[in-house]
Amino acid sequence: MLLLGSHISTEGGPNRAIERAVSIGCTAMQIFVKNNMQWFARPFTQEEASAFSQHKLRSKLGVVIAHAGYLINLGVEKTQNHEKSLRSLTEELIRCDQLQIPFLILHPGSHLGAGTTSGIRCVVESLNQIHAEHPNLQVRIALETTAGQGSCLGSSFEELASILDKVSSPERLRICLDTAHVFAAGYDLSSPHGAEKVFQKFDHIVGLQQLCALHINESKASLGSRVDRHENLGQGKIGLEAFRWIMQAEELTSIPKILETPKGKDLAEDLVAMKLLRSFIPNSSLS
Ligand SMILES: [Zn+2]
Ligand SMILES: [Zn+2]
Repeated sequence: MLLLGSHISTEGGPNRAIERAVSIGCTAMQIFVKNNMQWFARPFTQEEASAFSQHKLRSKLGVVIAHAGYLINLGVEKTQNHEKSLRSLTEELIRCDQLQIPFLILHPGSHLGAGTTSGIRCVVESLNQIHAEHPNLQVRIALETTAGQGSCLGSSFEELASILDKVSSPERLRICLDTAHVFAAGYDLSSPHGAEKVFQKFDHIVGLQQLCALHINESKASLGSRVDRHENLGQGKIGLEAFRWIMQAEELTSIPKILETPKGKDLAEDLVAMKLLRSFIPNSSLS
């Protein structure tokens, strides 16, 4: 089954996201498990959780993943926001378990001037603390590749590998690769050969077996600009050849592919982008 979909709004409750995703033919979806610009939310009721996990259309989606809130930063220690980040992330992980979501995608964090080494140490210690305090969580945190804007950690495959290498329970982590972010971070996947080389490099440094999701985004910003601006497919700086290569790459067949590109409420842009991506698969009856 091709696992292709997009980030879907949970307005009206998480169960409504399933209906929106299925209505445009998604076979995979990403959601926020609470308002992404707030630290905390009231817990899901049992009814809300089962309205999602037992939804009659839930089986139409091969996988559902979640994206963590934007305020969370594990990269600086001993601040009020670090305490809040640990609590907020823990609550989101519990919410994922309630909804039976296997992966929570997280930006590793920003060191805010303390330096990469210190930032990575803080991310590692934070992850170790959460894992130690919650040994029975089913959901895994998936660290996302970033564009490297400001002091954001995770813009190089080496930094992500270093976090995986240093945490006490690396088997509880995965990685999500965002095409717009890696391009802005300087990985040129704009040609088929370039894309192949970038994924080979990822495999060599991080390991393709760690990859649990791909964010399929075009970039408004140039190669190496370290600016994180998503654009619709066919209108950005990466170009369609990269996305054709990704859709055809056998080693990526089973990886969920999620769009996070601009769209209106009717999701028309997602519909067009998914049709385009499916058309890249040779002999596809799905296009
Ligand atoms: Zn993200
Ligand atoms: Zn992303």
